[in-house]
Amino acid sequence: MIRIRRVLAPNPGPYTGPGTNTYLVSDGVSAVVIDPGPIIESHLRTIVRELGDAEPAAVVVTHTHPDHAPAANPLGERLNVPVLGHSPGPGFRPDRRLADGDEIEGGAFSLIAVHTPGHAADHLCFLIGDVLFTGDHIMGGSTVVIEDGAAYMRSLQRVLDLGPERLYPGHGDEIPDAADAVREYIEHRRARELQILDAIGAGAETVRDVVDAVYADVAPVLRPAATRQVMVQLEKLESEGRVRWAPGGADEAAGLTLVEE
Ligand SMILES: [Zn+2]
Repeated sequence: MIRIRRVLAPNPGPYTGPGTNTYLVSDGVSAVVIDPGPIIESHLRTIVRELGDAEPAAVVVTHTHPDHAPAANPLGERLNVPVLGHSPGPGFRPDRRLADGDEIEGGAFSLIAVHTPGHAADHLCFLIGDVLFTGDHIMGGSTVVIEDGAAYMRSLQRVLDLGPERLYPGHGDEIPDAADAVREYIEHRRARELQILDAIGAGAETVRDVVDAVYADVAPVLRPAATRQVMVQLEKLESEGRVRWAPGGADEAAGLTLVEE
């Protein structure tokens, strides 16, 4: 009987929702810690306390963003267990690097690493039975910031093909209907692409124009992220030959010319 305990890190914010979810996966005898989060001493103490009598086996991270990975090495040292992840990153040095399909032994149980690039190139999900820990690949209650649109869509399809029943995201609540949630994500991305193509068709000539049309309601604090998202999606559309983009620079006001094929 596998138990999953969520320990919420005290780092709420516009990009982290209520905070980062740290998960303790245990069979009552041994335990694996997923995403210990940023280095916050009170959070580390809570993790250690919540492990209780379970023997820690490993600390793993879904990816190396600052709200997920920096506490991994300090926690690994404190628990005297190896720290595992796809790649080194800022403030993160894995004792062992994980590739797609690798198993993380937690004593009598194991987690399987699933490489899911898109939000980040080094992103892993972790599968155990019909449960998938999704990090920032799929979030509870919000969409995801992506850095590679084509890879992201392939990684969503990968999760759909794996067929987990429940998702435990890096932020927000458990998602009980995995397939429905993943299909919604895929539909959301396709709808955004159509909105971008429509905006260009209606005369948008710069990234700023597209952001104004597609992310009209976005809070000012999130506008830089929205701008980055439009650029990522334009790169995908360009690579598919659906948009021609003459880059004039990375600034959203630079004289980009967007031409619908
Ligand atoms: Zn992230």
